[in-house]
Amino acid sequence: MKEQVLVLIKPDGISKSLTGYILTRLSEAKLELVASRMVKVSRKLAERHYKHLKGKEFFEEVIQYSLGAFHPCKYVMALVFVGEDAIKKCRDLTGATNPEEADPASIRGSCGRITTKGVFENVLHVSSDIIEAEREIKLWFHPEELIADVFPTKITKVKSTRKRVWA
Ligand code: UDP
Ligand code: MG
Repeated sequence: MKEQVLVLIKPDGISKSLTGYILTRLSEAKLELVASRMVKVSRKLAERHYKHLKGKEFFEEVIQYSLGAFHPCKYVMALVFVGEDAIKKCRDLTGATNPEEADPASIRGSCGRITTKGVFENVLHVSSDIIEAEREIKLWFHPEELIADVFPTKITKVKSTRKRVWA
């Protein structure tokens, strides 16, 4: 089935200069890259993204990790891929959540680590299923930031909004 998937290169992946390597590894899946954006993650965005983890003992740690609190590069790269079985293909290439349990040849297995403080630094986020993928893509991107129409859109009038434009 043709699917969309949100991939985030997390602050450890950016800080370790793994962006090019990760894009090369993901290209093995032969999917179409339809959006990319560098994002300085706000606490609100991180909390909405990881809402399924609220209440877990590691929730605050995951939020801090996403905000870049543990790394010199305090931002993520957000990507949307489209194609047949996109979620499974990306998750297989990425490997298990725990980088020490991930297949050593996977991206997390070869590039992730658990820090001495016990933080899973697992380099990438990949949507877990089609429902989550749609929710996450709509959270991280505006429709015009995707070069393909992946979900229905509508035109709405937004009155008296303030927007930064080029000076
Ligand atoms: N996580 C963690 N400890 C855990 C489980 C998850 O630190 O025991 C973090 C990790 O960064 C993971 C994220 O929370 O990528 C989201 O967890 P999820 O279970 O959705 O794993 P994923 O889909 O990323 O493999
Ligand atoms: Mg997940």
